[in-house]
Amino acid sequence: MSDKGEKSSSLDIFQLLTETAEEERKKRREELLAPLGIKEFFVEGSITINKRTCQGVECKLCIETCPTNALYWRAGEVGITEELCIYCGACVLSCIVDDCMKIVRKRSTGEVERFSKPRDFMVLQHGINGMKRCQRVEDVFPKAEDYLERHRESKQ
Ligand code: SF4
Ligand code: SF4
Repeated sequence: MSDKGEKSSSLDIFQLLTETAEEERKKRREELLAPLGIKEFFVEGSITINKRTCQGVECKLCIETCPTNALYWRAGEVGITEELCIYCGACVLSCIVDDCMKIVRKRSTGEVERFSKPRDFMVLQHGINGMKRCQRVEDVFPKAEDYLERHRESKQ
């Protein structure tokens, strides 16, 4: 077999192993999240906690806030069960230390969002809500004239 042939078959095997591992990871997440009635919203993501700045002993707010119980307290620090994290951001919003918890998440559109401060999360959420509102208005009033007409009617 030529060098080129060997490279291509080893690449195929590597790709196959990666795809299999990814499928197993997704299946495991579905199995864990289904009993909670929670569906995945983001196609992928990651979460990290800076153990040096975390005020865990006096705080533990993120653990109380997490809707999936992905966070737990053990051996004097906050731990994460990654398979249970849906990257919702509730822990970042409740964290008392900026840049302690960091989340990176990817939407099905390919858009990547990163945040590690409650303020950043709120700005992001505000933008998302704004877009949803605009979309809803467009659905109800496809043309600007429709909206103006309705507005005029309600003033009469
Ligand atoms: S992002 Fe949401 S699901 Fe993940 S650990 Fe934080 S609160 Fe829990
Ligand atoms: S909310 Fe922040 S500071 Fe408090 S325990 Fe969780 S990670 Fe640590």
